[in-house]
Parts: sequence; C-alpha cells; structure tokens
Amino acid sequence: MSTNAALFERAQRSIPGGVNSPVRAFRAVGGTPRFITRAQGAYMWDAEGQRYIDYIGSWGPMILGHGHPEVLDAVQKAVVDGLSFGAPTEREIELAEEILKLVPSAEQVRLVSSGTEAGMSAIRLARGFTGRSRLIKFEGCYHGHADALLVKAGSGLATFGHPTSAGVPPEVVQHTMVLEYNNVEQIEQAFAEVGNEIACVMIEPIAGNMNFVRASVPFMKRLRELCTQHGALLVFDEVMTGFRVALGSAQSLYAQQIAGFKPDLSVFGKVIGGGMPLAAFAGPRDIMAKLAPLGPVYQAGTLSGNPVATACGLTTLKIIQRPGFYEALGQRTQSLIQGLAGAAQQAGVPMVGDSQGGLFGFFFADHLPQNYPAVMAHGSDKFNHFFHAMLARGMYFAPAMYEAGFVSAAHTEQDIADTVAAATQALS
Ligand SMILES: *Cc1c(COP(=O)(O)O)cnc(C)c1O
Repeated sequence: MSTNAALFERAQRSIPGGVNSPVRAFRAVGGTPRFITRAQGAYMWDAEGQRYIDYIGSWGPMILGHGHPEVLDAVQKAVVDGLSFGAPTEREIELAEEILKLVPSAEQVRLVSSGTEAGMSAIRLARGFTGRSRLIKFEGCYHGHADALLVKAGSGLATFGHPTSAGVPPEVVQHTMVLEYNNVEQIEQAFAEVGNEIACVMIEPIAGNMNFVRASVPFMKRLRELCTQHGALLVFDEVMTGFRVALGSAQSLYAQQIAGFKPDLSVFGKVIGGGMPLAAFAGPRDIMAKLAPLGPVYQAGTLSGNPVATACGLTTLKIIQRPGFYEALGQRTQSLIQGLAGAAQQAGVPMVGDSQGGLFGFFFADHLPQNYPAVMAHGSDKFNHFFHAMLARGMYFAPAMYEAGFVSAAHTEQDIADTVAAATQALS
C-alpha cells in the first residue's frame, strides 16, 4: 500500500472521513488524498516525496507562495514574543490600518479567526444595525458554514429556504432567501415583495465556490440600487477575492465600472492571514459602532487578532503592495488559462476559462456559465479525468470541478509552461 493510502486509512480511524475539512477527502474526484509534508514557493511535497505544482495555495491564503522568507521571519519573531495574550497589541492596529488603507469602503474593521466567523458576524451586525431579519444569498455562493447560510432555495421566491445540512433546524433558515446569481429579475421581485424586511444581501462578487463566475456589472449595479432604496446592507464576501483578484479586492473592480460603487460591509479572510487563522469584517464607522463593546451586537473571540497571525497577515499585505505585484500575478494566471485552453483546443476538447489577478477557473464547455445551475449542468466526468491525469503528472489542482484555482507570485513562467505541457498530454 502507498504511504498516502496508509496514512488515509489511519486518518479515517481517528478523524471523521480522515480529514478536517471535507473537500480534502477527494470524494468528488475519487482516489487517495495526498498527505502533504512540506511546501516551498509554488511546490508541495507529499508523504511519498512526490512534488506537485500547487494550484490551491491552501485555498487562497498563499498568494506569495509557500515559505516566503520575509513572512517566515516575521512569524518567527512574533512567536518568540508570545503566542497569544488575550489583550490588545499594536500589531492589530497596524493590520487594521493596512486593511482600511487598501479598502476605501471600510472605516473600521474587526479581526476574527476564520471566514466563517467573519461572515456570521457580519450578518449579525447587519441584522442588528437594520433591525431586520431577512437575508438574501445566491445559489452557488459559499459564505462559510454558519447555520443560517447552509440553505438552498425553496419552491417559490419568497418561500422559506431549506437547510442543506442535517443539524440545521428549518426555523434557523426561515429568514434566508436563496436567489439565482446574475438574475436581475429575481432580485427585483424579491425586493418588490419583501424589500423592507431585508437586513442584507450577501454575495461573492466573483463566485469562487462554483468554480469561477463573475457577477455581471448590470446585476451588481441593480443590486446596489435596490439595497440603497430599501435600506438593506450590501455585504461583499471577499474572503476569497479579497487581495487576491486585485489590491483593492473585487470591490475596486466594480468601482471602476459603476460610479460611486461600494459595498456596505466587507468580509475578508484567506489572503489577509497569509496562511494563519485570521479573517475580518469591515464597514463604515456608524455600522461598526453597533458592535460590542460600543453597541448592542455581541461578537468576541479568544484568539481574535492573534499576535502570530497578525504578523503573518501584516507582512503578506505589505509585500502585495509592491509595484507590479498584481500585474505579474495576473499575467502569470492568464498565461496558465490561455495555455490550458490552447492545449484543449489542440486535443479537440471544448474548454473555456477566465481569471482575475491570481484567481482562475475553467470549464469543459463552450461558454462560461453565469450561475450555479449552468455550472452544475456540465457534469464532472471530464474534469475528474483531467484532475487525476494532472495529479499523476505532479500538478495539484483543486479536487472538485466547482472550486476555483489559485496562482501565487512564486509560480514561474517555467511552472506554467510545465503545467501546460502536462495538460497537453493529459487532454490528448
Ligand atoms: C473560504 C470561504 C469562506 C469561509 O472561510 P473559512 O476560513 O474556511 O471559514 C467564506 N466565504 C468565502 C467566499 C470563502 O471562499
């Protein structure tokens, strides 16, 4: 038995399914998960010493690649000074100031430890601020695993959603409406029916949890107008897109195309922790002032603003601001997508892809899908074959077709060329 298989078998005895987050179990693609022993730059090595070019980057945080020397240095220094204090530190202010500098829609930010926690807290804050209960989310967007968000659409627009997980009582999701991504008519109808009851609309501006689907500009513009008209908060979940698709995050891209555009609240994670458990939610001062200890909305965390995590995140945020960082990252990612599409064309396999900054997606299809049903209509057979053929050639893509991919600043042109060469073989 291979070392990875032996570890997986052993893991399943002590850990449910052998993993601490479900997608790692390779259920969608089948086969044996690779147990990783170390990583450096764009590469990871598994327990059998096999090297992979890493296109997951810990699902987003590793925008600099693994083991960036300045990040390691900052983390090592912070560790020596203490792992956790449960009291405020100057570094938390520095990280907050850095985030606010890069995200003009935000005047204050609260640090937490996971994207799930940040999203859950942002919704509580939106409800506390507006005094309303209803929230709208979109099919195919993932905002963490808070109970109220584990929901799929009901039969009619204004009908109750249904829990998508056991253990979530129907009453807990009764205020959650699930609409179709990029569907202007549905949001108009929802606001016409219950607009004055909606606390917030939460959205991934570029959805990275159904592969890669952009919210169209007309859709986003209408969403912003409707939220403003009805006093609902527009919450941008930028846990994946934040500092990944652009230095100003996805909201800066919409602000370029919609005059005066900004979300009310923003949720960050992944990149802002640089690989340590750190996330945040942010917004204007009047809304953030509703949070404890200033206001009535409770929110807290033993490890929030952890000194090691903030050292890691702060150093990461400093490095991504260096001139040319996003231009180089974006070009590298584009050449990957173009290379894959070229390899597919050569092999006579239909494939389309898209990317922004260091985030990408591709579909074995003729057109880019615009919403979740269209993503899922493609089936996963082709992707699963491709995934395993690439893995066998040392290319580590996300083990499910509905996940986005990630390129880091450590990926070289040679890495991309090697990946495209492997894809040419795999696709033929
Ligand atoms: C990863 C992710 C989350 C959840 O973050 P965790 O740190 O895994 O809890 C929330 N929203 C989006 C868009 C994400 O990609």
